[in-house]
Amino acid sequence: MAQHDALTDLPNRVRLRVRMDHALAITREGGSGLAVFMLDLDRFKEVNDTLGHPTGDKLLQAVAARLLECIRDTALIARLGGDEFAVIDYVTNPVVEATALAEKISQALCRPFDLGDHQVTIGIAIAPRDGTNPDEILKSADLALYSAKSGGRGSFRFFEPELDQLMHARRNMERDMRDALAKGEFELHYQPIINAESGEPLGFEALLRWHHPQRGLIMPAEFIPLAEETGLILPIGEWVLRAACNEAAKWPDGLKIAVNLSPAQFRSKELVSTIVGALANSGIVAHRLELEVTETITMHDSEAVLAALDQLHRLGVRIALDDFGTGYSSLSLLQKFPFDKIKIDRSFVNALSGANEESRRIARAVVRFAVSLGKTTTAEGVETEEQLAILREGACAEMQGYFSRPICAAKALKMVRRQLQPVRRRSRDMAAAR
Ligand code: C2E
Ligand code: CA
Ligand code: CA
Repeated sequence: MAQHDALTDLPNRVRLRVRMDHALAITREGGSGLAVFMLDLDRFKEVNDTLGHPTGDKLLQAVAARLLECIRDTALIARLGGDEFAVIDYVTNPVVEATALAEKISQALCRPFDLGDHQVTIGIAIAPRDGTNPDEILKSADLALYSAKSGGRGSFRFFEPELDQLMHARRNMERDMRDALAKGEFELHYQPIINAESGEPLGFEALLRWHHPQRGLIMPAEFIPLAEETGLILPIGEWVLRAACNEAAKWPDGLKIAVNLSPAQFRSKELVSTIVGALANSGIVAHRLELEVTETITMHDSEAVLAALDQLHRLGVRIALDDFGTGYSSLSLLQKFPFDKIKIDRSFVNALSGANEESRRIARAVVRFAVSLGKTTTAEGVETEEQLAILREGACAEMQGYFSRPICAAKALKMVRRQLQPVRRRSRDMAAAR
């Protein structure tokens, strides 16, 4: 029992290690190598969260059955937990045999399941070349898997020593990130969100930047994923919330501040109190704060997420669904989660004026659909007059894009002061007239 996974009836991690120890002893005696495959099924979490755990369980059982079809008697398949599977087998010609098995596994899992199509990503390590004990080899296979995932889904990759360097760079970045907050290396830039009709700014979206002492300016796409993986997004996210609210406190009352939240922050029990703290500290009222979340927040523990959203709503904070249209379960999601605002992903905005007729039609339909839901709709990534015109015609209320790029806090402040001037001057003139 202790060495088996009850759901799939496969050996578990404990059993895998015992068998690896045994197999490694055999490879030491010469002759063969041991190939270790780490598997990752795409979209498993989505199935689990949208169709329910019993369905997810069935999928895992079906995967286990297909894997069993692929292997020889000498191989072992283990389920390590969640949707993580590992396969080990002896190989005499590692590249040829491991490639063949990886392809066989890919093909077996790519055949449609009852619940739709899936792809598998595989990382492969060969003992003794890539490690001499189970820990080392599993780590190598994991690194290979990590690299296969970043190279696009549905592929397989062998471990290479360079991956170690890549991981080294990652570890360095993680180490630097740990100190970056204390050293004041983070900065927020602010991108105006504009009323589509009048062109007036309604507020700003706070976008994080990292001034690395050696590497210079690093954009969020490069460090947020690592911050999420390492949990550093929690303290960083708290800093962002506080800094953004404090900055917004300097602006005229009507202007909103939009802050991006990672799913990890939503899973944290401290989120609501962090937000209450940031609001209190800055003195801005709750309805000026808009939290931008993506659909992935709903994919983990939807009850807890719903409870947090509900609490935030009662505080008066607004919630925007970011990157709309790129997710998996938009329709059911929109009924279940109380969003105040939808931000149409920039890929659609881009397609609005693109060369491809079909993409153009889809993009227009997405805009119409978003607007028809009756929530405030913001189009992201508006770059051209043509896109602007189409969106206006489509009754999209708010715009954001490179017609007004993210700017530093001082410039944002200057911008809102300039916006105010005509009003001030007018009241001054009126006072003078009186
Ligand atoms: P996002 O929330 O979709 O933010 C909008 C991104 O689109 C920004 O990139 C912005 O500079 C860029 N953008 C704006 N207008 C245009 C346009 O017209 N064309 C194009 N091509 N791009 C445009 P940025 O600042 O690099 O941020 C990238 C992503 O990083 C954000 O995507 C967001 O998901 C994440 N992010 C940024 N700041 C934070 C943060 O404080 N916390 C968290 N959790 N994520 C953040
Ligand atoms: Ca955003
Ligand atoms: Ca977005």
